[in-house]
Formats: sequence, C-alpha cells, structure tokens
Amino acid sequence: MAKQITLEEIQNFEGKYPKQLWYLFLSEMWERFCFYGMRGMLTVFMVTQLFLAEKTANLQYGAIQAFIYAFTFIGGLFADKILGFRKSLFWGGLLMIAGSFIIAIAPKDLFYIGTCISIIGTGFFKPNISTMVGALYKEGDARRDAGFGLFYSGINIGATLGGLVCVYIGKFYSWSLAFSMAGFVMIIGLSVFVFTQKFMGPIGLSPLKEMKASKRRLIEYAVFVGSLLAIPLIKILVTNTSYTDLFMFIIGPATLIYIFYEMRKYSKQEKQKLIAALIFILFSVLFWAFFEQAGGSLSLFALYNLHDNVAGLTIDPNVINNTSNSFFVIVFSPIVGILWLWLSKKKIEPNAAVKFGIGFLFLAGAFYVFYFTRFFADGTGKTSLNVFTVAYLVITFGELCLSPIGLSLMTKLSPKPMWGVMMGMWFLASAYGQYAAGILGAGMTTANENATLTEKLVAYTNGYRQLAIYALIGGAVLLLISPFIKKLMHEVK
Ligand code: GLN
Repeated sequence: MAKQITLEEIQNFEGKYPKQLWYLFLSEMWERFCFYGMRGMLTVFMVTQLFLAEKTANLQYGAIQAFIYAFTFIGGLFADKILGFRKSLFWGGLLMIAGSFIIAIAPKDLFYIGTCISIIGTGFFKPNISTMVGALYKEGDARRDAGFGLFYSGINIGATLGGLVCVYIGKFYSWSLAFSMAGFVMIIGLSVFVFTQKFMGPIGLSPLKEMKASKRRLIEYAVFVGSLLAIPLIKILVTNTSYTDLFMFIIGPATLIYIFYEMRKYSKQEKQKLIAALIFILFSVLFWAFFEQAGGSLSLFALYNLHDNVAGLTIDPNVINNTSNSFFVIVFSPIVGILWLWLSKKKIEPNAAVKFGIGFLFLAGAFYVFYFTRFFADGTGKTSLNVFTVAYLVITFGELCLSPIGLSLMTKLSPKPMWGVMMGMWFLASAYGQYAAGILGAGMTTANENATLTEKLVAYTNGYRQLAIYALIGGAVLLLISPFIKKLMHEVK
C-alpha cells in the first residue's frame, strides 16, 4: 500500500494553493450546483405545481432556508464528536443525492420528503467541507484567506450554474429531469470527494478512531439512523411555518449555551478567541439580513421597477438579480484573495475585524446605490438596470470582505475539537440572517396592494436608504471596536 501523506506534507505545500484545495473546490462546486439548483426551484415549484398561495410558498421557502442553515450546526457538532468531517461529508452527500432523486420520482407527491432529506444532507455536508479547507493550512499561514477566497469562487460557479440550469429545465422541460439533474451533479461532487480523499492524509478522520471498532460503528450508525428519524419531524416544522418562529427562538440560545458550556475546557486565551469568533458571527447575522434582500425584496423590485437593458444588452432584470452577484464573486474573489496576500507581504494587510468593517461599508454603499436608482426612474416608476447592477458589484465586494474571511476565521479562532461546531455556528448566523431578511423585506412593502409602480419604488428605495444607514453604523461600530476584537484574537489576524 502506498504511504499515506502526512499532515506536515499537506501543510508544507509550495505556491499559493495546496492541491487538495482544488479537490474540495470541485466537490463543493457540484454540491452548490445541487443546492442552488434545488433552492432556485423551490418557490416556483410550490406555486406552479403544488398551487400554494405566493405568501405560503414564501413562508415555506423561508422555513426551508432557515432549517438548512440551522442544521449545519448539528452537522458540525456530530462531525466534531462522532463522525469526523469525512464521514459527515459522505453521509451528507448521500442524503442530498437521495433527496433530489426521491423528488424526481414523483415531484408533486414526494417534494417535502425529498426536501427534508436534502436539508439534513446539506447540514452534514456544507460546514464540514468548509472546515476541511481550513485544515489544509498551518496555524498562522497567511495563505489561508486566499485559499478560502478561491474556494468561494468554486461555490459561486456551482451556484450560478445550478440556479440557471435546474430552474430552466424545470420550468421549460420537466421538473423530474430538473431534480434528477441536481441529484446527478451531487453524485459527481461526492465522487470527486471519494476519489480524492486519499490525498487528505489524516484530515477529517473520525475523532473516535481510538475507540474499539465495533463500538464506534454502533455510535456512528445511531447518528445515521437518528438523522433519518428526524425527517418526519422536519417535515412537520417546514409545512407549519409558525413552528419556524419557535424553532428559531430556541436553537440560537441553545447553541450559545452549548458553546459557553464547551468553552469551560479551554484556556483564557482560547476562550477569548472563541468570544471574538462569536462577535464576528453576531455581525454576520446583520450582514446576511441585509444581503439576503436579494432573494426577497430585491427580486420583487427587479420584477416591477427595472428596465431590461444593461450595458447595451437586453436582459431580464430578475436574471441580473439572481446571477450578477455570483458572477462578480467568480471574477473578483481570486483577485481580492491575491490582494490580501500582497498586502500581507507588505505587512499592511488589515486584520479581520477591519475587513469585516470594510465589508459593512461596502454593504452600506451598495444600499445607497439601490436607493439612488430612484433618481433614474421614468414617469412610470421604472428605473435603470445599469445602476442596479452597479449596486450588486458593490455588495459583492462587501461579501468578499466578510464571507470567505468569516469561514477562514472559524478555523483560525476555534480549538480543533470545536471546528465543526463553530463552522456550523457561522452558518447558523446565515439562518438568522435569512429569517431576519424576510421580516425586513416584508416591512418595506407598501401596505396598499394596488400601489402604483412609482409608489412601490419609493417604498423600496426608502427601505434601502434605511438599510444603508444601519449598515454604515454597523461598519463604524466594527471599525471602532476592531482594536478590542484584535486583542481578543491574540496572534490571529
Ligand atoms: N453564498 C455562500 C454559500 O453558498 C454563502 C452562504 C451563506 O453563508 N449565507 O456558501
């Protein structure tokens, strides 16, 4: 048998990126294709095939999104304690494949069961592949942020393709085929992982590897069976959206209590780093609450208030709303990653708290641009798609200062036995962000159902100006407290 690669060999790689990053990149790219393909289909399918009222479909969509990200915490927890990252990934991937194909068999009848299986699958897959990226780097390796930047491009390539291909096939050909497509690409994603995991050395192996094999297997099977038994419960929670409020009310505080309980095992310095991670997580909730207007109020704004030409081309405004962000991420993420490396060589790279602060300033800038669209409106209340697209460019820079950096931070600031849980917590913040985004978006609509386009424009852009002000305040607070956060982070940048 060939000699297994060691952790040192992996982490002492030369050049900008370790080769293992490319394998994780590809695997995650296909997973995000499946995920965003499914995500893109949800509301359209519920409204046009299950004949749900738009409001119910939106609420259920919000609940599904919230549960997906909430389950990342549970997926991370089981990876840390029992399965290790690899088995978690494998199990998650299998469930995502099963979920997609089950819906494909009879979309109308098996939609909810399949979706719930995919929710659990994503919970096991998503946080743990991100953690494995962090494990490729030595503590203090300045190339880590750039690695997450590249990984983030992979995420967005998959997201763009999945969002386009699955929705298109579903709407114009067959829903069965579209859901099968999601399952099929997930098979590719999982196969990439399975065939390349031999290059991961000891990364992601079971934390219980010292335990007797038979006992360990029993515990692992209990996790697999337990996660299957949770499916009917999640189905109840998703279809009765009033339970979502209750669930969201409980899960956040419960996870915080758990993390504070776990913290007791660690030194003062490690505790302070974890507190810093929690501060970043808290701010990210606010960031995603604004950012995720993309799926809600901004898509309605695109539907009603935008012309359909950008840079001289005729394009549907909703297509721009759904794809421009990922497109800009793909283009700019590697460039921003290289910028961080360059700044770090010159020893002037801003620390993570400052990067987050800058991220919020971009977020504020983007919402000011969304607000400014009102000054380009014609008499009918329709405004410039060009200006709207510029806002997406600006928001993307905000995302790049926060999202890949946050992923990277979770592995820098947490002790190894808590990597999975903290990565799960990072995504749990997205669950709260999504949840709050719906509430914020609903608050922006005009009370009058028959409002004119101009009235809608005024209502939405007023809302965006408000968000811009809050984002500005958020950014200012972050920059102000950044020296304090820096202290909590100790040597981590
Ligand atoms: N778009 C990124 C992804 O899918 C980030 C999502 C999030 O954390 N809300 O991974």
